[in-house]
Amino acid sequence: MSPVSTALPPVAPSLPSLVSRGRPVLPWVMLVALLAVAQTLLVGLTVVYENKGAQEQVDAAAAAVSIELRQHAERDLEGLQALQWNDPTDAQWRRGAELLLHRHPELLHIEKRPLQSPRLPGNASVSPPITVDSPYRPPLFSHVPRTEMAADTELACATAQRHGTPAFSRSYFVPFSGGQGIEVIDVCLPVSHSQGGASESVAATLSMPALLSQSASMELLRGHELSFVEADGTRLARAGLGRGGGVYVAQRLIDLPGQTLVLRVDSAAGRPRLIPPLAVSLVLGLSLALGVVVVLLVRDMRRRYAAENALAEALAFRRAMEDSLITGMRARDLQGRVTYVNLAFCRMVGLTEAQIIGCNPPPYWPPELVGEYNRRQQLRMDGLRPPGESQQGFETIFLRGSGERFAVLIFEAPLVDGGGRHTGWMSAVLDVSEQRRVEELSRQQQERLQATARLATVGEMASLLSHELNQPLAAIASYAAGSLNVMGSGGGLDADAAAALRHAAMRIAEQAERAGRVIKSVHDFVRRREQAHEPLRCDVLIEAVLPLVRLQARKSGARIEVERIEPGLRVQCDRTMVEQVLLNLTRNGIQAMELDTPVKARELRIKVASAAEGRVVFRISDRGPGISPEVAQRLFTPFFTTRPEGMGLGLSLCRTVVEQHGGTLDFTSLQPPASGTEFRFTLPAPAPARKPAPPRPLSSLTTDDAVLNPTPDDAASAT
Ligand code: ADP
Repeated sequence: MSPVSTALPPVAPSLPSLVSRGRPVLPWVMLVALLAVAQTLLVGLTVVYENKGAQEQVDAAAAAVSIELRQHAERDLEGLQALQWNDPTDAQWRRGAELLLHRHPELLHIEKRPLQSPRLPGNASVSPPITVDSPYRPPLFSHVPRTEMAADTELACATAQRHGTPAFSRSYFVPFSGGQGIEVIDVCLPVSHSQGGASESVAATLSMPALLSQSASMELLRGHELSFVEADGTRLARAGLGRGGGVYVAQRLIDLPGQTLVLRVDSAAGRPRLIPPLAVSLVLGLSLALGVVVVLLVRDMRRRYAAENALAEALAFRRAMEDSLITGMRARDLQGRVTYVNLAFCRMVGLTEAQIIGCNPPPYWPPELVGEYNRRQQLRMDGLRPPGESQQGFETIFLRGSGERFAVLIFEAPLVDGGGRHTGWMSAVLDVSEQRRVEELSRQQQERLQATARLATVGEMASLLSHELNQPLAAIASYAAGSLNVMGSGGGLDADAAAALRHAAMRIAEQAERAGRVIKSVHDFVRRREQAHEPLRCDVLIEAVLPLVRLQARKSGARIEVERIEPGLRVQCDRTMVEQVLLNLTRNGIQAMELDTPVKARELRIKVASAAEGRVVFRISDRGPGISPEVAQRLFTPFFTTRPEGMGLGLSLCRTVVEQHGGTLDFTSLQPPASGTEFRFTLPAPAPARKPAPPRPLSSLTTDDAVLNPTPDDAASAT
């Protein structure tokens, strides 16, 4: 168990805990209740405001009507007083009264009354009153005689006489025929003649409904009911085009001389309705809009809750995923500071999150490499790709807390925030130290295996070599013996003998060199160990193995045919390994022909050509029996062989080598009537930028061949 795992502080507070899971109901209930109260208050206030406005309107109307009423009464009184001006004769008075009645429609009846009532006993000499009626309606006292309705008038007249000022009577009802009638009020003025004669009274009867309608404008009459009422509320007279609503009512006392009237103004408007008034409509509209906004808000909040919950879950999921990862994750900002690491990364470097976050340079950089890593980082910040880095990742060395250096493979991608701004880099870090160790082990094993295979090949060649070296050594021996003979014959050497000796010495040298070259080619093959992928000309490659191939072919009498190789055709490969492949395949082909193929049909063809996708294909075909399906199935299995002296490693080694180069190895049986097998393998061609080396004629490949195949002349001359 890593100590890091226990030492690590919690990476972040548990996010789901930050988001309340339950839906808070109380705030919503409170919000809705508040809204309802606010709405009710608003409507209530608006209604109160409306009420107040309407009441004020009625009060104002009542005030205006009362003023107008008083003015009317005053005008009527003035008119009545003017009747007496200049002691008119009865005829003049009557004319004046008629004119007055004509001008003032509210005046219904005017009479000049003697001081003493004619009805009183003992006053029979008193002349009867002069009466004039309004021209606008039938005479007022046509249905009921005036004398029967004069009580209030006389009282008023008496008061007027007593005080010497006009006096109004109590109002009274004058019935008409047909059950109709009219409420009237009388005003009485004392009249005193300039000659100091007997005093009289002028009484005028005013129509109370007319008085009301004359005192109000048409507009006021349209919206209000005006009436005179008694103290107990009994209505005496009314005016107005409609009935009052009884809601907005104003009363005013109209003080008239000797009498007080109660004016009541009743607005036709009823209780304020909620919908029609503009203000109420506005309030309701706004409240509705508010309600809609609240509903939208609630929906929005719900979505937010859902989104927050989903986010919290996603974050928790992400955190769990990150912690379960075996890949180290690391984020850095634009300044190169580490801003995030996951658990796997901490375990990998053996440090805690707190030891890493915010550090620049980070503590997992080996001190000796800090300079180089900083340079790379600078390049990355400048938007360049540091050398050796690719999208497929790059390998580098990190330092564990224990001081151990280890190889990591890093895949880096830019970090871009929601606004599209580049904020840093996110890296996935893989600890490849174990993988590298295994690879190194495998490489060493491969190398050992190859060396063993080479030695095995050489072992096989040993007998061939002995035969091959026999010829030049025999030639050397015979030339040496001949030379000795010449030199042992005694006496001075003549010119012929000297020439023969020179020739023999030259042949000895040639044959020795030939033997040396054979030895060297084997030596080179065995000793070559360095592994380096380099661009190599295909013809040179074939040329290098050809002497050894021919060495093998010689024994079974097989012919080696190399088809013309395109000059300048190259492959990118490890020379030694590919030579080994070529040798194995040619050896297998030659051996396959040794059993059943007639000697003259034994032909091994080598062909090299360029193939698709920048590859070069090598074909080695023999005329052997071909490969049966059972053998084909196990062909590339290590240690599978059908030959008693075989090791069964050749083909599996070939496939490994070819695949290590990124190529493929396969085979096909030749189609009848031809029999045999063709092995093919591909190798990558080097990048095309290089200029091809000058072509070398294939004929030059025969140099070693000539060495390994001495002409009969050589043997003859040697002997
Ligand atoms: P080895 O040569 O030591 O037997 P290899 O791996 O080279 O091992 O070959 C395995 C077997 O494949 C051989 O024993 C042989 O039976 C078969 N084989 C290889 N090449 C050919 C070929 N060109 N024609 C027929 N059989 C082949």
